[in-house]
Amino acid sequence: MEHPENSEAYAGLTVNSGVGPVSNINPYLQRNRFVRKQLTVNDYVEGILKGNSAILGQAVTLIESVHPDHQVLAQEVIEKCLPYSGNSVRVGISGVPGAGKSTSIDEFGIHVLKEYGGKLAVLAIDPSSERTKGSILGDKTRMEKLSVHPDSFIRPSPSAGSLGGVARKTRETIVLCEAAGYDKIFVETVGVGQSETACHSMVDFFLLIQLAGTGDELQGIKRGIMEMADGIIINKCDGNNVEKCQLAATHFRNALHLFPPTESGWMPKVLTYSGFYGYGIKEIWDMVYAYVKFVKANGYFEYRRNEQAKYWMYESINNKLRNNFYNNPTIADMLKVAEKSVLNGEKTSFVAAKQLLDAYFALLH
Ligand code: GDP
Repeated sequence: MEHPENSEAYAGLTVNSGVGPVSNINPYLQRNRFVRKQLTVNDYVEGILKGNSAILGQAVTLIESVHPDHQVLAQEVIEKCLPYSGNSVRVGISGVPGAGKSTSIDEFGIHVLKEYGGKLAVLAIDPSSERTKGSILGDKTRMEKLSVHPDSFIRPSPSAGSLGGVARKTRETIVLCEAAGYDKIFVETVGVGQSETACHSMVDFFLLIQLAGTGDELQGIKRGIMEMADGIIINKCDGNNVEKCQLAATHFRNALHLFPPTESGWMPKVLTYSGFYGYGIKEIWDMVYAYVKFVKANGYFEYRRNEQAKYWMYESINNKLRNNFYNNPTIADMLKVAEKSVLNGEKTSFVAAKQLLDAYFALLH
């Protein structure tokens, strides 16, 4: 017998009737899809205080939003969370790209959660993310183990604005995370410039990840960054790199001895480890917690936090004043004209600046 597929009806060019469009399972679903309940300040605060990480995430999105209404709401949420914040150990982790930050943070996070319990938030300051449209640092996919840990909260760097703006948002996010019960905060930053200073201004302990093996370990690092470090850790101390790492550690130790004593009275330590193989990680966190104990006993912990609070107050004032000036429509128009006059050589920069500021102050009256 002939196979049925050889009959006329199965010819290749025959168009068989297909399946029509599938109707919605719930015809009302479509209509309500984009209607999300607008949370009030109290909804946010209650959710955060209960440790609801979804609400915490939404509140952080508010902080990052450029929408003026969101900013007002965010500030109210932050203010209400402030009394519940502060109870944490904040650690800055810096290193050049490729130093092994994400590999290390994944291991460090798992280690501290296992050894010390509690909850961990990983935040980031990455001013370059504005250029790359989307942050590199703090990306969940880079931290495989931590990203699926129930007690961790990972948030990439805010992407909009200047370094100052990005850092301020991270600082505000710390407040919310602490109110949500995160008692360990890591702030990751890429070790290439001023972002370390911003990171240093919001953490209790600053860890600098270094690599050995280039032969000129100390040349590439700015003295200022080394001076900020409370601990220098040399990564990739594994395989045939062990000897080089130990040599680098000796170089760093010798260099640190030449620095003036630190304000805290703590002598920065140099350790070697392997983030990939998990060697030497316990020693790093023993060091961080020994430091915390040391500075809590001598009062420096409290002092540094107060100094940081003061710093951020001035930062906020500067930020507000600057925005108020540049966002003023009259000033914005005048600026365009003034810029041209300066470029044409009709006015000096100082005269133009003075005239603009005088005009601004006159507008305020
Ligand atoms: P980041 O750019 O600083 O976040 O660095 P990554 O964590 O992405 O690491 C950069 C590269 O170094 C990756 O290929 C890692 O596998 C590798 N790496 C990280 N830690 C170690 C380590 O302890 N030993 C070795 N041999 N390689 C490592």
